[in-house]
Amino acid sequence: MQVKRISEHIWSLKTWMIVPINVWVVADEEGITLVDAGMPMMTKGIIKFIEQHNGLSLQRILLTHGHSDHVGAIKGILKKYEVPVYAHSIEIPYMEGEIIYPKRKKLENNLPKTLTKPLLEDDSNTLMKIGGLTPYFTPGHSPGHVVYYHEQDQVLLAGDLFTSKKGKLKPPMAVFTADMKQALASASIIKHLKPKQLEVCHGNTVYHPFDQLEEYEQRKEKILGGK
Ligand SMILES: [Zn+2]
Ligand SMILES: [Zn+2]
Repeated sequence: MQVKRISEHIWSLKTWMIVPINVWVVADEEGITLVDAGMPMMTKGIIKFIEQHNGLSLQRILLTHGHSDHVGAIKGILKKYEVPVYAHSIEIPYMEGEIIYPKRKKLENNLPKTLTKPLLEDDSNTLMKIGGLTPYFTPGHSPGHVVYYHEQDQVLLAGDLFTSKKGKLKPPMAVFTADMKQALASASIIKHLKPKQLEVCHGNTVYHPFDQLEEYEQRKEKILGGK
């Protein structure tokens, strides 16, 4: 597993399974937040990294969404740490096997029922900040997909809202994406936040993604037309 410090407070832990798979460790004075949990084979490496990290302890696991390649290490991590797992309330019934993910043929039981807690929302249904990160609802790749923004570092942890190649923003993988049109519309979060740096689960860092947004959006028709 490759460990890389990507900003002042954030590390990426990466492995490869045909495509790269990243998870992120966000650290501050309060402790450590893990964003996404990759594949089961990453369990040992994630725990080892947390254990060696300045005596800080794991506080929580946040999920961008509940696909199996984002929750794999949770079982093993929870054997060692008793921490809550959060995802968007809309995503939970899909990952717990109550509703079939769009475009999939059967139910997925990616995590046991009642394990995952919904991300908290305020009175106006805005997702509340957690572990130094602000979640934003960005549906499309999955029905309850969220991205997490670290304001201080200006880093957007974008999960599978995008992929990337050689520093270029690319759309999420079509076969695994529930609603591509909606996913492309959710890309406008970049306009809203203008992050300095964007990280995807399956790819490398994209710097100043706002500069590429117009080009990305121009490809929309081609992407949707080619469906
Ligand atoms: Zn996914
Ligand atoms: Zn994925």
